[in-house]
Amino acid sequence: MMKMPAKIIDGKEIARKIREEIKKEVAALEKKPGLAAIIVGDNPASKVYVGMKRKTCEEVGIYSEEFKLPEETSEEELLELVRKLNKEDKIHAILLQLPIPKHINEEKALSAIALEKDVDGFNSVNIGKLVRGNEASVPCTPKGIIRLLEEIGIEITGKNAVVVGRSNIVGKPTALMLLNRNATVTVCHSKTKYLGEITKKADIIVVAVGKPNMITESMVKEGAVVIDVGINKVDGKLVGDADFENIKEKAGWITPVPGGVGPMTIAMLLENTLQRYKEAE
Ligand code: NDP
Repeated sequence: MMKMPAKIIDGKEIARKIREEIKKEVAALEKKPGLAAIIVGDNPASKVYVGMKRKTCEEVGIYSEEFKLPEETSEEELLELVRKLNKEDKIHAILLQLPIPKHINEEKALSAIALEKDVDGFNSVNIGKLVRGNEASVPCTPKGIIRLLEEIGIEITGKNAVVVGRSNIVGKPTALMLLNRNATVTVCHSKTKYLGEITKKADIIVVAVGKPNMITESMVKEGAVVIDVGINKVDGKLVGDADFENIKEKAGWITPVPGGVGPMTIAMLLENTLQRYKEAE
């Protein structure tokens, strides 16, 4: 059989269409949905991400506010801000940009966000719901990954899915969402032995590690779907975790970096904000 090069999953275009739909829907609303984004500390990447998120909100007509707190902010001060925003009528969605400084208990801070305003689904109650198969509020990146799989018409039921990375924000919730859709899921991490042997059996590989070229062509089964979440800077260029150039000759589908999962994360943030608004108003 002749080898077919992989089809590229155009996350940028899929996200553009989603944004367009959201823009139309928001324009028809009486009141504007509102998002509050909180940054604690001086992480430069956080500032870029929150800047991008707010700019996209503006484009689709979602009201947004940004709260920049200094590194030395106490846990109580942060909790106080969250409690205040929980009560504010014009705010329907609250985002606490991670990472936050180590002296603040992350779980406590995320779980202080009211369930009905928990736009990222990081409140422990929402994570618990996800474990039970209730996807009332799910994190944006995993939701974007599932949407990409749906868009390309991949049937998830019965597939072998391998998730590389087990963070609370990407790996674990993605694994749960795949499991909720009847995939047979394997989760790999830094202590996993013979990673390549495991990924080679996968119909769907999701890699969220943060190491360029960690998934190579020999680790991928012919025709597999490769979703690359990684964002790495190499020689001033953005690259993912997968060796895109070589894998694309073998895989069935692959996401590029940039232009794959990244734009979907932001589109899902808008969608989740709108969802929180609709449930509240
Ligand atoms: P974390 O650093 O929180 O998690 C990385 C995971 O990778 C950990 O579970 C770690 O294992 C695992 N890991 C590390 N080394 C290896 C290895 N050699 N083999 C297998 N697994 C390994 O990262 P995030 O989940 O927050 O992010 C992952 C990547 O995705 C980053 O590049 C980040 O920038 C990007 N990202 C992109 C987004 C987007 O919208 N496109 C959104 C969020 C993140 P262990 O648990 O054992 O330490």
